[in-house]
Formats: sequence, structure tokens, C-alpha cells
Amino acid sequence: MLNLNQETPYDNVPLDDFKNTVLSCQQCELCHTRTNVVFGSGPIPCNLMIIGEGPGEQEDIQSLPFVGRSGKLLTKLLEYASINRDTDVFIANTVKCRPPNNRTPLQAEIDSCKPYLIRQIKFVKPKILLLLGSPSLKTILEETLTISKTRGKWYKTAVDYMPDPLYIMPLFHPSYLLRNSSKEEGKPKWLTWQDMKEVKSALRFYEPPPVQVDKILANT
Ligand code: URA
Repeated sequence: MLNLNQETPYDNVPLDDFKNTVLSCQQCELCHTRTNVVFGSGPIPCNLMIIGEGPGEQEDIQSLPFVGRSGKLLTKLLEYASINRDTDVFIANTVKCRPPNNRTPLQAEIDSCKPYLIRQIKFVKPKILLLLGSPSLKTILEETLTISKTRGKWYKTAVDYMPDPLYIMPLFHPSYLLRNSSKEEGKPKWLTWQDMKEVKSALRFYEPPPVQVDKILANT
């Protein structure tokens, strides 16, 4: 498991300056082929954070994560669990720049982006972290296992920003689900719907309790 409490060169850098540093990054070869850096999107802080692999063509053009075909499926998966993509989740990637022809990011690229990812997690302070695809699984859990062996399982790690552990779940990547689109019971898409239900019920634990109208009225 990656130590998420480890120091990064950006720990004392305010969010806006950190974001500008990431957006102008030249630490690896991907800076020569990208159109835009994709920092991530969503509220900061946020109880739920998703980490994908890396930007694809559309993400590189729009400088936003998960806006292409797999992004549309991700939005649907989130909606199925009543998670609003704009208000309830921060979405980031293991690498912030598009690998040419959407190849898997190289270890050197992942390593040079890692301090950014760790600092992002410290800013977002998620209570639940979802890992989409193998690069984020390998980066965060440092797992040698595959997504199909780990998906739907909760892992946990201690973080400095809260007393409770951070809960982490790997999930099938939406682009894998696009290639395996059967909704039949037991197939990847069906399993992912079940995983999303599990995530939603875990998130409920962190939601503020419903407002008790009778108590409010009694106090007026
Ligand atoms: N796939 C990813 O892993 N991330 C994106 O932002 C888009 C596609």
C-alpha cells in the first residue's frame, strides 16, 4: 500500500499554486505530446474520489477527466448509485497527461506524477477512494493482483487527515466495460453495478444525518 502520508514537495503549496504547477508540468516526456494537462475535476474537499488511468483523446482536448466514451459510462454508473458527478466526487487520473495513442502509462511517467497524486489526495481528503483500472490499482495498493481479483473488495489505509481509515475499492475500468458490455448476472458490468451499490451504502455512513423537521419546528 502506498504511504499516503508521505511528504511531497507541494505539501505547503496552496491549491491554486499547486494546480498551476501541475498545469505547466514538464517532468516527463508526456509534456511533449499532450495538448493539455488534465488536473482533475470536482469539489475539494470531497468524501469520494476516483482515480482513473490517464487522459484519452477527448480529455486531452478538453482538459477534463472522463469526458469521452468511457467517461459517459462512468457518469451513468455514478448516477445509478445516485452520485452526482459534479457535486459528489472528485475525479483524477494516475497520470495527468495523455499517453500517445492511449497506451498504458509507463512506470517512469506514473512515478513522476505520483507526488501530484498524493498531494491531490491530501487536498481532497476522501473517505472513500475508487481505483479504476490497473495503473491506479498498482500505484495506490502496490498490488500485484489483477483488477478482476481485487474489484469489489475494500482495502484500508491510515491517513493523517482523519481518525478513521481511508477505504479503497478497485473497480473495473469503464473502457473495459465498454468492451465487455453484457449485463448478464456475474459478468463485469453486472458486478460493477453491485460494486456501485456497495459504494453508495458506504458513502451514506458519511452523509450528515437527515434534518429533523419536527425538532426545527419545536425550536421556532
Ligand atoms: N480513461 C481514464 O482512465 N481517464 C480518463 O480521464 C479518461 C479515460
